[in-house]
Amino acid sequence: MERLADTHCHLAMEDFAGDLAETLERACIAGVEKMLIAGSDEKASIDAFGLVSREKSCGLFVAVGIHPHDSNSASGGIPRSVSELALDPAVAAVGETGLDYFYDHSPREIQKEVFVLHAALARECAKPLVVHVRDAYDDAIEILRRERASECGGVIHCFSGEMHHARAAIDLGFYISFAGPLTYPKNETLRKIASELPLERILCETDSPYLSPQPRRGKRNEPANVRFVYEELARVRGISVEECAEAVWKNALRLFGWGDQ
Ligand SMILES: [Zn+2]
Ligand SMILES: [Zn+2]
Repeated sequence: MERLADTHCHLAMEDFAGDLAETLERACIAGVEKMLIAGSDEKASIDAFGLVSREKSCGLFVAVGIHPHDSNSASGGIPRSVSELALDPAVAAVGETGLDYFYDHSPREIQKEVFVLHAALARECAKPLVVHVRDAYDDAIEILRRERASECGGVIHCFSGEMHHARAAIDLGFYISFAGPLTYPKNETLRKIASELPLERILCETDSPYLSPQPRRGKRNEPANVRFVYEELARVRGISVEECAEAVWKNALRLFGWGDQ
């Protein structure tokens, strides 16, 4: 069976507190051998780091950072606990960070400031940046360009922008990651983008516990479901799931420096 990577999930969240072992077991059965747990605030980053440190054998990796929803909590700077963790060799990436103008849970100016701080931290640590963008692609690309994010690279996770945004991100050395929305019937435009981008720049993820793919929609999402995203990506590109999985696996290893263990 193909080796699959789920390059963005939130397994340290409360949602998985009751059945984490079973969730990891289901991921293993589905062929998911590597998972990146993204931090979303100070506590979640520390929890994710703790989980990955405890479960060393499960192919778990961690990113630490402050989600744009929680930018307010970092308006005075990224919490020291998070910036120190980012330097730890066990941490694979910085994030998730970015801009979310759909929810606007934090003021846009603060979101931008905190995003810039994350870009600087990623450059300092020489680790990739995990970027969340919703309804803010022009501003996000401009910040990535201005802040020389090409020096650290990264991924636009759960991509929802337009083709020119994807190409601009790729020009900055970024990868484009697709999640459950790729399987939603109304997302024809997203599927067209996924079919046309260079395969060596694509990643797949679940963003668990959110955004379950179509066959599981409405239920809690989990890494085992990343298979549906791979299947959809393979279908729209007219390639086999094996070929798709192998290419994305290599991309994930290249970006996050996971080595081919
Ligand atoms: Zn996100
Ligand atoms: Zn996320």
